[in-house]
Amino acid sequence: MSYIDPHIHMVSRTTDDYQRMAQAGCIAITEPAFWAGFDRSSAQGFFDYFRQLTEYEPRRAAQFGIQHFTWLCINPKEADDPGFAREVISLIPDFLKCGTVLGIGEIGLNKNTKNELTILEEHIALAEQHNQLVLVHTPHLEDKLKGTRIIMDAIAASSIDPGRVLIDHVEEHTVAEVLDRGFWAGMTLYPDTKCTPQRAADIIEMYGTERLWMNSAGDWGISDPLAVPKARLEMKRRGHSPDTVNRVSLENPKQFLGQSPNFRIEGV
Ligand SMILES: [Zn+2]
Repeated sequence: MSYIDPHIHMVSRTTDDYQRMAQAGCIAITEPAFWAGFDRSSAQGFFDYFRQLTEYEPRRAAQFGIQHFTWLCINPKEADDPGFAREVISLIPDFLKCGTVLGIGEIGLNKNTKNELTILEEHIALAEQHNQLVLVHTPHLEDKLKGTRIIMDAIAASSIDPGRVLIDHVEEHTVAEVLDRGFWAGMTLYPDTKCTPQRAADIIEMYGTERLWMNSAGDWGISDPLAVPKARLEMKRRGHSPDTVNRVSLENPKQFLGQSPNFRIEGV
C-alpha cells in the first residue's frame, strides 16, 4: 500500500527514517522550507538551505526509492525583518527553475505581526507572478483561527485560485471555514498533542475526504515520520474502506500536487 507524506522536513531526519518510511509504503514526500530550529544569520544561509532542499535531499531520498519534492520561501518565524526577508525572497526565482520545486511554502504567520503580514503578501505576489502552488503554515497558538482568517483574506485579495492553495495544520475549529472558502486543507499529525491520528480520523468522518490530506510535518522536534501510515491503520481499524484511506493519503496529494507540472510520480 503506497502513500505520500506531503509535508515533512527531512533535512532534520536520519536515513533510518527514510528507510522506515519506505518500508511503510512511502513513495514520495514534499518538503516545505521552514525554520531550522535556529535563526539563520544571513541570506546566504537560506541560499545553502535551498540548495540542500533542491540538490542533496532528493538524492538522499532516491536511495530509498522515495521521490523528493520541495517548496521555497522564508518562513514566518524569520520573516519579521522585511529587509532581510526580501533579500531571501530575491533568491527564490532562480530556484523555481529546479525540476522538483512545486511552489511557494510554507508561508503564513507566526505571531500575526504587521511585518509578517507584509512578507506574506509579497510571497503571495511571487506565487502569482510565477504561477506557483502555495502551501500555508497556520499558527499553532490560541490565535490559530484568527491567523488562518488573516491568511485566507490575504490570498483572496490576490488572483490565486484557492484550489491551488493548501492550508496546513487545520484543526477541528478551522477546517470547515478553510474548505468552505475553496481551499485545500492539511491535517498535521502529532504523536500526542494537537491533531493525533485519532482526531484526524474523526475530522474525516465529520467533513469527508474532499480536498483534505494528512501529513506528519516531521522535523527536529518531537514528531513522528510514520504518522501517516499510523493514521491509515487507525482508519482501517475503524472500518474505512481502502478507497477512503487511499484517497486522503495518496490520491488527494496526487491531485493537489499534480497541478504543478513538476510533480510526476514514477512507476505507479
Ligand atoms: Zn512544516
